[in-house]
Amino acid sequence: MSARKKIKVVTPLVDMDGDEMTRIIWSMVKEKLLFPYLDMGIDYYDLHLKRRDETDDQITIDAAEAIKKYGVGVKCATITPNQDRVREYGLKKAWKSPNATIRAILDGTVFRTPILLKNVHPSVSPWKRPITVGRHAYGDVYAAAEIRIPDTGLVELVYTPADGGEPVRRTIHDFTGGGIVQGIHNTDDSITSFAKACFTLAFDRKIDLWFSTKDTISKIYDAHFRAVFESEFEKNWKEKFAAAGLTFFFTLIDDAVARIMKSEGGFLWALKNYDGDVMSDMIAAACGSLAMMTSVLVSPHGWFEYEAAHGTVQQHYYRHLKGEETSTNPMALIFAWTGALRTRGELDGTPDVPAFADRLERAAIETVEAGIMTGDLLPFAEKNPANRKVNTEAFIDTIAVNLDRKMV
Ligand code: NAP
Ligand code: MG
Repeated sequence: MSARKKIKVVTPLVDMDGDEMTRIIWSMVKEKLLFPYLDMGIDYYDLHLKRRDETDDQITIDAAEAIKKYGVGVKCATITPNQDRVREYGLKKAWKSPNATIRAILDGTVFRTPILLKNVHPSVSPWKRPITVGRHAYGDVYAAAEIRIPDTGLVELVYTPADGGEPVRRTIHDFTGGGIVQGIHNTDDSITSFAKACFTLAFDRKIDLWFSTKDTISKIYDAHFRAVFESEFEKNWKEKFAAAGLTFFFTLIDDAVARIMKSEGGFLWALKNYDGDVMSDMIAAACGSLAMMTSVLVSPHGWFEYEAAHGTVQQHYYRHLKGEETSTNPMALIFAWTGALRTRGELDGTPDVPAFADRLERAAIETVEAGIMTGDLLPFAEKNPANRKVNTEAFIDTIAVNLDRKMV
């Protein structure tokens, strides 16, 4: 790259480094695609598993606090340790998922949007525009109390009012043998901020909002989610949506799944925590690869955390450690940075920063559309003699060449 003036990013971005293959790609992206073009301060938190272990996971909490301070963070994928990882890394214990820790501190909704390409067609043929999944990131089965019931006995739900009122009881099941039970919860505050985040994002991106639950079966729990969305719509969005030609549409989750398979896409699909977890992976896979799914946590307090939806790509990392060449796709990691930079620039009122993010995204998309791609995409790409599989570094280098051209 020829010497030129770098674009100034006024406020530091909170940079959370991660593990395994994505850690290697993370530093390549910064070194080859960001630092040559940007005069950018970063507030760096190393969330490498060893570092979390050394700090008793304080580093993860510090990173979340830094996002609260600066407003925008960008996170590499991290290992959520299980017992295998405790042995592999010699850990003090199986620390909690960093994503769960950060979400619990920031609150909010995770929005996942696939990156669509001209030459990689979704396997669901009617899909023309991206479907964004808005996943509620609080409560339900992710914060459940569970009991393995060994044998005969009564299980009840009991609510004890703090003001000393009469307890409310419901029988869950009168067991005549062994079994299992689970208690889940959510709060009015969290559901309301979930609804607000979804309406806000749909309105900002000028896309329709769909919301679906199973309220015919869950007449209190799921029905309450529906009621909160409908009341938020009536109160704050009905006129704005009508003026912008946008629709809010509630339907049963089974009906939504069936309709989505026949739709052209181009809307936000709001889903409860578990539904969103599962459906976003289905949409990512149908759009070509897990590596083509972007993800952002939008907190009701105005904080943003961008990341890739995929994990640390462990198997590729082990191959890399053995000295084998890997063709790991960096697209979602690059888009985590461009998403963060775009929001940072909008908050700072520095339009050349979002303009840089647009150029980098175009450079990355055009690289794949010109046939240069990683191994995960090749089998799904339109047949073309120009197509070739490259390794991660060569792919990033080609993006850098394309980006350079756009910066003149
Ligand atoms: P993963 O890292 O997403 O990888 C699953 C498989 O998807 C890979 O083996 C690979 O398939 C494919 N893949 C994912 N990302 C890819 C990319 N960028 N380029 C090419 N192929 C890609 O999920 P995992 O193996 O279940 O989890 C590995 C570690 O990541 C775990 O320790 C888990 O805790 C962590 N994790 C972290 C996050 C996060 O921080 N947000 C999310 C999920 C998982 P092939 O092997 O077929 O090539
Ligand atoms: Mg999932």
